[in-house]
Amino acid sequence: MSSGIHNSGGSGPVVRGILHAHSLYSYDGKHSLSEIAGAAREASLSFVCMTEHSDTLDGVKVRDLVMECESLSSADFAMIPGIEFSCDDKLHLLGIGVRSYDPSPDSVYLTRFIREGGGVSVFAHPMRKAYRIPDGLLDSVDGIEIWNCAYDGSLVPNARAIDLYVRARSTHPGLVAFVGCDLHRLANIRKMAVQVKVPSLDPDTILSALRTGAFRGVSRLCAISGRPSGNVSQRIGIRALGMAYSTAQRFRARLPSGRAARR
Ligand SMILES: [Zn+2]
Ligand SMILES: [Zn+2]
Repeated sequence: MSSGIHNSGGSGPVVRGILHAHSLYSYDGKHSLSEIAGAAREASLSFVCMTEHSDTLDGVKVRDLVMECESLSSADFAMIPGIEFSCDDKLHLLGIGVRSYDPSPDSVYLTRFIREGGGVSVFAHPMRKAYRIPDGLLDSVDGIEIWNCAYDGSLVPNARAIDLYVRARSTHPGLVAFVGCDLHRLANIRKMAVQVKVPSLDPDTILSALRTGAFRGVSRLCAISGRPSGNVSQRIGIRALGMAYSTAQRFRARLPSGRAARR
């Protein structure tokens, strides 16, 4: 494939959603779940995967979160609950789609807990860990968040996180490359999305596409497959340049001809 970007795989229409979002269930979220669902629908997103900080959760709050997500979901929109677990060594582990709570700070144990609960485990924003991965985590985690909007910006992925992913994948070929909005404010809801091809918005269907890397992460400037192939950094670079060029062309076409001609 010339661009190095796989198509989304799966069958059915292509839909967009966001991964890694915080509401008032998290200590630092700024909006309620229903405000986030409303803004997501307005932005033509079909699903949102919530990942609330475990620090302020317990079993009862997670039950409330799951129920509220269900009440905000419908045939044309899925609000998927989940937890961002604060683990030992300040590691953050996303449990996308997880529906119950466990207070353990052990990231390797939690990857198993997440899988048994039907969720998807992701080593979040490796930058915070100075790009080191704890022993044993790679054997059990589903993927790495190689691009986090809050830490890496919204235009292109972080080159060091991509290098980390490429190194990790050389010994663990099943690892998926995730992109996360890390949404706390609605202003960031349109900056980055994942695109999946699914027959329905059933949460389990979306989660299995995520788990197998059958998606693309897209920003305004760049797109990357959940299973990027070949020289990942180079291919993302080429793709980003191509998208920047077409954005510039569209902008130029909108300028009055005199101004465009003088530039
Ligand atoms: Zn985090
Ligand atoms: Zn987060």
